[in-house]
Amino acid sequence: SIMPATLSAISNGARHGILFKGGAHLENLSNLKAIAFDKTGTLTKGKPEVTDVIVREGLNADEVLAAAASIESHSNHPLAQAIVTHVKDGGAVLKQPESIEDVSGWGVRAVLNGVEWKIGKAEFVGKEEAGAFAEGAAAKLAHEGKTIVYAANEEGIAAILALKDTVRDITVKALDLLKKQDIYTIMLTGDSEATAKAIASEAHVDQYVAECLPDMKVDELKKLMSRFASVAMVGDGINDAPALATANVGIAMGEGTDVALETADVVLMKNDLTRIAEAISISKRMNRIVK
Ligand code: ADP
Ligand code: MG
Repeated sequence: SIMPATLSAISNGARHGILFKGGAHLENLSNLKAIAFDKTGTLTKGKPEVTDVIVREGLNADEVLAAAASIESHSNHPLAQAIVTHVKDGGAVLKQPESIEDVSGWGVRAVLNGVEWKIGKAEFVGKEEAGAFAEGAAAKLAHEGKTIVYAANEEGIAAILALKDTVRDITVKALDLLKKQDIYTIMLTGDSEATAKAIASEAHVDQYVAECLPDMKVDELKKLMSRFASVAMVGDGINDAPALATANVGIAMGEGTDVALETADVVLMKNDLTRIAEAISISKRMNRIVK
């Protein structure tokens, strides 16, 4: 049976925008030593915007961008949606690719008008070639916390697009509250080293792990769980579900995907990250009453 103190903590949570899916999670929360956060859609708004476009000399920029958007319109990655919006706003008409493959954590592969395209991160289109294209400019954009998307076809890299996602207004406050509770914070992201470093410093996390593929998030979490007694994971995406299930406490953003909401032990209504510190306080108070 559920103890009165537990019931009262659960209803207290609900009043504060925190949904606890059971009493056991409250116990785990009170011992928490570290929290891992997904980047996109969790620490950031998850609504990137195209800020810069560099097209290879000699190519028609409109044609290259229309091709990239035609392909990205078949991916539901936030970066893809931002590219489509940007190119459509410029008046381009999109075409139907002959084939399309969404490669989770890397990008999209497609055939359009008989031409094979790859759109995504540097390693996906070819790290060496990507590194050589607009080298200085791309590095500068990444240091500004922008994600670089490479659009390449059989002839090489045709263009790069830089996209900036904004750190949520509440993120720094939420992370500073956790620091006061002696909680160590880590950001996990599939993004590149330079981009991750810039966002991590904006968001005030203690540590970050870049180039973290969807399956690697679980491995990183297990490493953290052997280093710290009790670790929570906060995420919003389908990609985060395995890590949410692995963590001592899985915490989902209230406006996250259904899979994340179903897998998590705790849900933050209204995506309010400051509720995590509140949830920890509630759990500590409850455990003082129970013990
Ligand atoms: P995250 O949520 O941390 O950005 P993902 O695993 O979703 O991580 O993606 C990792 C990286 O793969 C992205 O930062 C991007 O560089 C690349 N990527 C994935 N899907 C796409 C896509 N549809 N278009 C362009 N790039 C993509
Ligand atoms: Mg996410």
